[in-house]
Amino acid sequence: KKTVFSAIQPSGSITLGNFLGAWRGCAAMQDEYRCIYALADLHTITVRQEPAKFRKNTLEAYALLLAFGIDVEKSLFFIQSQVPAHAQLAWVLNCYTQFGELSRMTQFKDKSAKHADNINAGLFTYPSLMAADILLYQADLVPVGIDQKQHIELARNIAERFNALYSPTFTVPEGMFPKTGAKIMSLQDPAKKMSKSDDNANGCVYVLDTPDDIMRKFKRAVTDSEARVHYAEGKDGINNLMGIYAVLTGKSYEEIEREFEGKGYGDFKEAVGQTVVEELAPIQEKFRRLIDSKDYLEACYRENAQKATAIAQRTLNKVMKKVGFLQVK
Ligand code: ATP
Ligand code: MG
Repeated sequence: KKTVFSAIQPSGSITLGNFLGAWRGCAAMQDEYRCIYALADLHTITVRQEPAKFRKNTLEAYALLLAFGIDVEKSLFFIQSQVPAHAQLAWVLNCYTQFGELSRMTQFKDKSAKHADNINAGLFTYPSLMAADILLYQADLVPVGIDQKQHIELARNIAERFNALYSPTFTVPEGMFPKTGAKIMSLQDPAKKMSKSDDNANGCVYVLDTPDDIMRKFKRAVTDSEARVHYAEGKDGINNLMGIYAVLTGKSYEEIEREFEGKGYGDFKEAVGQTVVEELAPIQEKFRRLIDSKDYLEACYRENAQKATAIAQRTLNKVMKKVGFLQVK
């Protein structure tokens, strides 16, 4: 079986973008692949967090991903900060990653523009920690949204560089991007990607939003003045809504155009909203049950951190030896 690795930051409430771009398929992959999933909480502190809120977001994200269908009988699902090998390998990989490479990362440029008062070293070296996450588990495939493509490329380069300098150590991973929905845009500013950490909550649909909130956000989504549902350049708002509708219904853009021929944007937005509400309802219900089972959740992440540590440590040990750190027998 090929190994799949994917992670998400508990940096806020999980969005429809996260769900459609990366996590909707997580349950279905578990039979075909050896799946390893993580909450990337070390990455989260690259942006300042309020401790109590951060803890709450982490626990909620853990429960919500279980509600997406991660099955800990089949897959590993752990919290990054509870597996020390991530920070350890990240340090080593930092020393095999060039300043120039990190400087070219568009996520760094975007996030440092957004958090100009806190452009910390962690934000800059975010991609080498992400490389460590992936490489520790010898992952073959990394299902993520298209916004992470550049980071996956860098992880590949770091792996190839290390393998060439020493000897084959890391599996060189490949990104796995959905055909539609790989980049869901903000409903308020369709030129910007939908992000958990966005300040404009109206632009983001959260997986845990109430049906009323979801409908309201779709009804207010920014579109254009043409009032014809079709996919075309310059119609970012409509394109985005069509993308969301297409992933959820499995319909092609042509089919959607036909379905809404002669109808206005109001009807279309209503239909998209309704489809999202229906998709999320069973997930929300499962989440509500899980979030009340704190002891179960804790037992789950404790055990999964132990299992992940055992796997990660094998890769880390090889790396330490190859680099030349003096070994204790
Ligand atoms: P943050 O704003 O804190 O970076 P985020 O919404 O970008 O939050 P991440 O935790 O960074 O979420 O990413 C989790 C996963 O969701 C990744 O696989 C990422 O590619 C995917 N993803 C994030 N935003 C989108 C989006 N707008 N459309 C599709 N996929 C997305
Ligand atoms: Mg992100």
